[in-house]
Amino acid sequence: MTDWTRRQIGALAGGALLAVAAPHTVRGQGRAKVVVIGGGIGGATVARYLGDMKSIDVTLIEPNSTHVTCFFSSHYLAGLRSLASLTFGLETLAEGHDITIIRDSAVAIDPAGRAVELRGGTKLSYDRLVVAPGIAFKFGEIEGYDEDAAKIMPHAWIAGPQSELLRRQLESMDDGGVFVIAAPPNPFRCPPAPYERASLVAYYFKQFKPKSKILILDAKDQFSGQELFQDAWSRHYPGIIEWLPSQFTGAIKAVNVAARSVVTEGETFRAAVANIIPAQKAGLIGEKAGLTDASGWCPVDPVTFESTLQPGIHVVGDSIIGGDMPKSAFSANSQAKACAFGIAASLTGSPQFPPHLFNSCYTFLAPDDAFTNALTFAPEGGRIKTVKMFISKVGESAEVRRRTALHAVGWYSAFTADVFGGGP
Ligand SMILES: Cc1cc2nc3c(=O)[nH]c(=O)nc-3n(C[C@H](O)[C@H](O)[C@H](O)COP(=O)(O)OP(=O)(O)OC[C@H]3O[C@@H](n4cnc5c(N)ncnc54)[C@H](O)[C@@H]3O)c2cc1C
Repeated sequence: MTDWTRRQIGALAGGALLAVAAPHTVRGQGRAKVVVIGGGIGGATVARYLGDMKSIDVTLIEPNSTHVTCFFSSHYLAGLRSLASLTFGLETLAEGHDITIIRDSAVAIDPAGRAVELRGGTKLSYDRLVVAPGIAFKFGEIEGYDEDAAKIMPHAWIAGPQSELLRRQLESMDDGGVFVIAAPPNPFRCPPAPYERASLVAYYFKQFKPKSKILILDAKDQFSGQELFQDAWSRHYPGIIEWLPSQFTGAIKAVNVAARSVVTEGETFRAAVANIIPAQKAGLIGEKAGLTDASGWCPVDPVTFESTLQPGIHVVGDSIIGGDMPKSAFSANSQAKACAFGIAASLTGSPQFPPHLFNSCYTFLAPDDAFTNALTFAPEGGRIKTVKMFISKVGESAEVRRRTALHAVGWYSAFTADVFGGGP
């Protein structure tokens, strides 16, 4: 591989960049090859940590030139942050961490032949493959809601153009309209995030559209951080946010895009703006490569994150069945580091150690009122189990909450620098 390809980011034209050689385990025969699919939080972290080891040849496949973080995207919806401040290029990873980045999508994996095929026709061989494609949506579970409907009723659950669309709709909405959020069934990406979104949009309404309301139609009867959210909603936004659990409505069954309405078992609700967050499953390449089980997610070994269905392929991030670990950026980053060390150990024959896994989330109730949780996890009996847990309490002082909000902003800068190898 030339220095040019190592540093170059760009769409590669059709022909094969690397012919598929017979797969080789490269101990003692030059650098082992690891291919990483997905340059989001999990994939970028694995690539960065493996690249820094220098003894491994790392190639990262990602179709987009930039990554927009989902975390803090509800700040953008509420007009509190620009999208540019949430957008990261992959150049720093390529240049600073010895990674070849190919701007393309993986369309097929051949586990027996240890090769990946890209949309542009390139075929890459690997010694180890890491799959980190995030989530896909179960379109069709809500009648009438598909990719076209999402252009009118955005999910904004993958940040970027969908977030921009939802922001435009909220800005142009008349004062007095109802913003409907359809909250998905478990398990889904970032359990507190639909309710954080409601809180920050309520903050925006309070200032700019004070007659408007938010209606959360939930597919569940309870949700993560419920007590903390409901306490905050009564303090900050009385009469603005209404939450209807599934037991009252039977959850959303259908949408009517033309009429901008959502239909539950017994009622139809008209929305000025509708944010439909569908049920979720592992990123599509996971399903296609036989990495998913009947749950729609990828089972993995909790020490190395190697698939329990396809040896030699590791999966990290939202696509996995994470045991007690929630689907979050912090989890994806923690899993990615464990996975990188697991791969390095198996390629060099050094011993494997059970990883310490972490998740810490900051959740905003208002710009200066945030709560946090911090959890540690360890592998136990083939699963990832919680070891210790801290969560903020209802009744904390305004000063504690204000400091938590400040810490969250600091965390954002440090965390994204860890993942993408530089600041925003
Ligand atoms: C509104 C919202 C708020 C959130 N807030 C927080 C928070 O405060 N804290 C927190 O920790 N987490 C938060 N999250 C969750 C967090 O964003 C995700 O858990 C995290 O992004 C998961 O990382 P990932 O690598 O699995 O997926 P992603 O970061 O989505 O990356 C997947 C990547 O794979 C690429 N890809 C997919 N298929 C292919 C393919 N076939 N070939 C090549 N590339 C492919 C995609 O283009 C994408 O870049 C939030 C999420 C949402 C929606």
